[in-house]
Amino acid sequence: MDLQGQNGLMTTFREGWRSRKASAWLIALALLAFYTDLYFFDHLTEPAKALGLRSKWFLYSALYSVAMIGGAVYYLRRHGNARYNRYRIATNLGVQLVLAFLLPFVMPLLAGAPEDDYWKYEYFAASIWPLDHYKLHPSILRAVPLVLALTTVALAFLVAPLLGFFFGKRWYCSWVCGCGGLANTFGDPWRHLTATSTASWKFEKVAVHSVMFLAIVSTLLLFVDAFADTGETFHAVIAGGEWWSMKSLYGYVVGALLAGLVGVGFYPLFGPRVWCRNFCPMAALLGLTQKLGRFRIRVKPDMCISCGNCTTYCEMGIDVRSYAQSNESFTRAACVGCGMCAHVCPRGVLKLENAPTLQEDKARQRLPVVNL
Ligand code: SF4
Ligand code: SF4
Repeated sequence: MDLQGQNGLMTTFREGWRSRKASAWLIALALLAFYTDLYFFDHLTEPAKALGLRSKWFLYSALYSVAMIGGAVYYLRRHGNARYNRYRIATNLGVQLVLAFLLPFVMPLLAGAPEDDYWKYEYFAASIWPLDHYKLHPSILRAVPLVLALTTVALAFLVAPLLGFFFGKRWYCSWVCGCGGLANTFGDPWRHLTATSTASWKFEKVAVHSVMFLAIVSTLLLFVDAFADTGETFHAVIAGGEWWSMKSLYGYVVGALLAGLVGVGFYPLFGPRVWCRNFCPMAALLGLTQKLGRFRIRVKPDMCISCGNCTTYCEMGIDVRSYAQSNESFTRAACVGCGMCAHVCPRGVLKLENAPTLQEDKARQRLPVVNL
């Protein structure tokens, strides 16, 4: 193991596949081709059946797990000298292997469900509304077993906001979520490519909150249909089976295009958090909870030497150095609490913590409350 833990920094800009050279473009093209085939063609169904898997989505989940394991080895060889990093990556892998792959595969078999009803038991608990938009459709809540419907509601409205308030969005985005898990492992070699410009920050705020707004309003309208006497006015538009229904468009535009093709396909060119930063409705919602809650990155005063490692390694494009230079502890809605800014800082300036005193600190230091 690399006991210095800083070798990643030494090699980052020398390797073509990590610096937008030809090899990086080739990897991006391969990823884009894979996701195009996955979402728009059907070549993976036969290999999946040959392997004894029920559908191409289980084969995808298996390949996803393999990519995460390979990425985890890469990451831990560079940054595994910190306990936070080891526990975080181990949790990511555990969630993927057990909650995303194993449980959805065996639950219908254990429940003895008829084949047509398998989908009701293929439950991925770590994919929480609004990230998994369909889970909270009233028709889905009515169809699945009661315990799973209650789990969906409890995770979305109790567990996620409470943990977000006390621990920030890191509990989900950096420890549990599958998208974050892939970004933290397979996507880690490209984390320094995330845009840090003001324009990218402005785009992020508009885009991510627009998707969140769309997810919340459309779900609310479905509940209006379910409980008011509207004669299913919104149902066909939002949850119908037509190509123009929001369910189909959301699936293709948000699920396939933004989360899959753009989100993962462009890892080698734009960094591993394009989806999380700009389009994920769950990240947006947890970001707002984080702003109101206890998570913060504490800056130890007058220690920063302005090397910029923290900003370079922030996968969410946050200019951490500017906060460190101005001795300003901060909470940013976008921060996923990966801890890498603190890990790569040669002076130990930064510390991730859950403290109730951020606003008091700011008032004492006469610092402005930082915007989203
Ligand atoms: S500010 Fe630090 S902890 Fe937050 S996302 Fe960036 S590198 Fe990770
Ligand atoms: S906080 Fe640490 S890593 Fe960031 S610029 Fe200052 S010394 Fe460098």
